[in-house]
Amino acid sequence: MSNTDFVLAVEDLTVSFDGFKAIDALNLYVDRNELRVVIGPNGAGKTTLLDLICGKTRASQGSIKFRNEEMTRMPEYLRVRKGIGRKFQTPSIYENLSVFQNLEVSYPRGRGVFGALAFRCDTDVRDRVRTVGEEIGLVTQLDKEAGLLSHGQKQWLEIGMLLMQEPELLMLDEPIAGMSVREREVTAELLKRICQNRSMIVIEHDMAFVKQIAHKVTVMHQGKILAEGAMDDVQADPRVIDVYLGH
Ligand code: ADP
Ligand code: MG
Repeated sequence: MSNTDFVLAVEDLTVSFDGFKAIDALNLYVDRNELRVVIGPNGAGKTTLLDLICGKTRASQGSIKFRNEEMTRMPEYLRVRKGIGRKFQTPSIYENLSVFQNLEVSYPRGRGVFGALAFRCDTDVRDRVRTVGEEIGLVTQLDKEAGLLSHGQKQWLEIGMLLMQEPELLMLDEPIAGMSVREREVTAELLKRICQNRSMIVIEHDMAFVKQIAHKVTVMHQGKILAEGAMDDVQADPRVIDVYLGH
C-alpha cells in the first residue's frame, strides 16, 4: 500500500510468541474521527493488537501506518509523541497526588522551554488541565487526592491524562471493567464526546455498551479478524454467534 487517508492502516500484521501466532496476517483500517470497538473471546489477540500499535510489542511481520507514516519499527515513546495514546487495563494514576497534579504531570514537555518562558508555560498547563478536567467530568474534583476518587473516576482521570497529550489516536483496553451501571453510562457519553476530534479503538465485552458507542465493530478470533461492520450485522453473523456471542 502506498498512500492512505486512514488514520491507522495495519496490513499483514503478525506476531509470533515461540511459534504461536497471537496476531496472524491481520489487516485493520481506522478512519479519522472513527470510534472502533474490538470484541472477541479471551485470548483472541485484542490486547496484543494494541501492544503492537503502541510499540510495546514488536511485530514479526507486516506494517503499521499512522497518518501515513510507517510506525512498525519506531520505539514506543516516539509513537506517543506522534499522537498515539494508549490506556492499559490496570489503572496507573498517582494515588497520592491531586487530580490537578495527575493531569499536570501528563502535559507533554521537553520542547525546550527555559527561564522567562516558564511562567507562560504554567498558564498554558493550567488552562489545559481545566479543559481536560471539564472533558472528563472532574473539574470540580481537581484539588482532590486521586486515591480518594471512585473506581470510575480513576478511570476517567487516566483517560484525561492521555488527553493532556492531545492524541490523534486513543486506544482503551476494557475501560468499563469493574464500573457501576451509572459509571458505564457516563463513560459512554464521555467516549462519544472525546472521539469527536480524534480516532479511537476500544476493546470491550459489554454488548450494551458497545452498541452505544461503536461506529463499527471488529470481531477478532485466534489472531485474525472474523467479522467487521455495523453492530447489528456483526451481532447477526452466525460465525460471531458461534465463537463469541453464543457463550
Ligand atoms: P485478548 O486480549 O484478546 O484476551 P491477548 O492479546 O491478551 O488476548 O492474548 C492473545 C494470545 O497471545 C493468548 O494466547 C496469550 O496467551 C498470548 N500472548 C500474549 N502476550 C504474550 C507474550 N508476551 N508471550 C507469550 N504469549 C503471549
Ligand atoms: Mg485483553
